[in-house]
Amino acid sequence: MAEASSQVDIAERIARLRAEINYHAYRYYTLDDPIISDAEYDQLMQELRRLEEAHPELITPDSPTQRVGAPPRPEFRKVIHPVPMTSLSNAFNEEDMRAWLMRIRRLLPEDLPAEELAFVVEPKFDGLAVALTYEGGILVRGATRGDGIEGEDVTENLRTVKNIPLRIPVAPDGPPAPERIEVRGEVYLPIADFNQLNQEQMAKGERLYANPRNAAAGSVRQLDSRITARRRLAFFAYAIGYLEGGPSFTSHWDALMYLKELGFPVSQDIRRTHDFEEVLRFIREWGERRDHLPYEADGVVIKVDSLALQQRLGIVGNAPRWAIAYKFPPREATTRVLSIEVNVGRTGVLTPYAVLEPVNVGGVTVRQATLHNFEDLMRKDIRVGDTVIVVRAGDVIPQVVKPILERRPPDSKPYAMPTHCPSCGEPVVKPEGEVAVYCVNAACPAQLVRRVEHFVSRSAMDIVGFGERIAEQLIEAGLISDVGDIYTLKDKRERLLQLEGFGEKKVDNLLKAIEASKQQPLEHLVAALGIPGVGSIVAKTLAEHFLSLDALAAATEEELQRVESIGPEIARSVVDWFARPRHQEVLRKLRAAGVRTEAALRTAAGGAAPLRGLSFVITGTLPTLSRDQARALIEAAGGKVTESVSRKTDYLVLGENPGSKLQRARELGIKIIDEATLRQMIGAQ
Ligand SMILES: [Zn+2]
Repeated sequence: MAEASSQVDIAERIARLRAEINYHAYRYYTLDDPIISDAEYDQLMQELRRLEEAHPELITPDSPTQRVGAPPRPEFRKVIHPVPMTSLSNAFNEEDMRAWLMRIRRLLPEDLPAEELAFVVEPKFDGLAVALTYEGGILVRGATRGDGIEGEDVTENLRTVKNIPLRIPVAPDGPPAPERIEVRGEVYLPIADFNQLNQEQMAKGERLYANPRNAAAGSVRQLDSRITARRRLAFFAYAIGYLEGGPSFTSHWDALMYLKELGFPVSQDIRRTHDFEEVLRFIREWGERRDHLPYEADGVVIKVDSLALQQRLGIVGNAPRWAIAYKFPPREATTRVLSIEVNVGRTGVLTPYAVLEPVNVGGVTVRQATLHNFEDLMRKDIRVGDTVIVVRAGDVIPQVVKPILERRPPDSKPYAMPTHCPSCGEPVVKPEGEVAVYCVNAACPAQLVRRVEHFVSRSAMDIVGFGERIAEQLIEAGLISDVGDIYTLKDKRERLLQLEGFGEKKVDNLLKAIEASKQQPLEHLVAALGIPGVGSIVAKTLAEHFLSLDALAAATEEELQRVESIGPEIARSVVDWFARPRHQEVLRKLRAAGVRTEAALRTAAGGAAPLRGLSFVITGTLPTLSRDQARALIEAAGGKVTESVSRKTDYLVLGENPGSKLQRARELGIKIIDEATLRQMIGAQ
């Protein structure tokens, strides 16, 4: 009896967990407005997983645990679309748009009031069109568009897309699920994730995707849906294919609002207007925003809003008359490779890039494009003189996709790998098992230029007006040989004035900006050092933890790894960096110049350091701080650290395995605190 009722309880608990998790995933992925923490979410997921493991008979396809993907399948099943997925006719300029308006106007009653002809304008995501079928509110099938008549069954893969609802309605207060509905939309890969995916592909020596669309299509069409699950795909709904046993609508707009209520992600940028001029304005606006969107949009779709009018206008050939896609200029172009050059990065990595015959790609003139690395360049066999396809997506650096072999000049020669650094002429090094080729010359001028550029950049020391050209000039003139020398420039005023383009005013401003940069927060200084693997975010973590450059420099790999989110690779990289005499010399110069090397602490009103006037003794091993770090931290906050406990001691900081100091402190009635309390007193994390 107890057994049976507990079985029912478990089924109920599982159902409740699923509903809750699906709802929270929707808040997170679709609304971008979570109401619980990630940890709480993980807890719910864990509980569900545990229950399902114990009761596999209770697993259903709408369970959020099923978003992880299934084992590979030999091929995709074909799917015939019950309602064909038509394509759209295209417009490329405003003239085309006005012609479209004229065409539909002619087919509609002459006396149709202007306000009855409304348009819905939507951004056109550059991804893969899919159709999702829900029966009784459960996602039962996801299919690609294919040729519009026949697509492929990619249900398992689409299940892994986080913002595709597995069950509708998602929200507890949503409208009831219709008996059957087909929702159409686009699966896409945000540009940031696209770049990351390509980086990972590159690291694995695998093929790069030319653009986010190919990457999205490639990800959805993986035969192993577990691979799809690892790609951060997203979905936008833009239409209802068909709907049975649900509400009926008179307009496309209302249908979109209904999808939104059911829990589907619908673009926030859709507009409805009667004013055709506003439609054109919206298109222009999107053309300008295009480069700054987090996803790739290749155009704008304009639809007649009224479903009755859509019916009346009908379909011609393969495309509805009531809709049109305004296409932005393509992001792809062909041009010729004038030369292949090599850039030397700040860590010494050599990167090839192509100098191109200038070409317009999606409204931007492109003169150079990256070739990623030598392996990629060799595999694609790109040669000087080749006609190549160049693509550009969003803010991404243009890249050469491939050569057009039919147009290769007969006398072209394969590219020869550089054996020497183009900047300093030293032989290059290719570490075993790495794709990258390096110049390891510590005095390489090109590397120094890059290091200086990085040091003065905005997320680092933010020295305004100090650009690449100035870095080159100063290095060429021998005025700086490492970033520490930047702070000695104030003593070299006369020599600065002799440089080309340097007037009194420019020198004054530059020196002022250099002086001001000494007060940059510690995290900026840590980022500025250019330690491999330590970008702005890691730098902030390290600065907040160690609170001073000295403490960071003294940290061991072990201590670094105890810091949250710092892994063994970064820990090793940090320790290696500080161990090099060349870097110690830089640090010496920075300290001598008076660059701030301690974290700004939250100080009391009046600017007093929080521990001013307090005396501390440390005993035992602290959980995360070494003795030196704890000392640095206390001193940075204005406190004093002594070796032995006396009546003048205010606090004993107690760690594991304390010595006799603990006994002594107890005898004297001195307050005993732990590391966490110490951090709290200082106001540090
Ligand atoms: Zn070099």
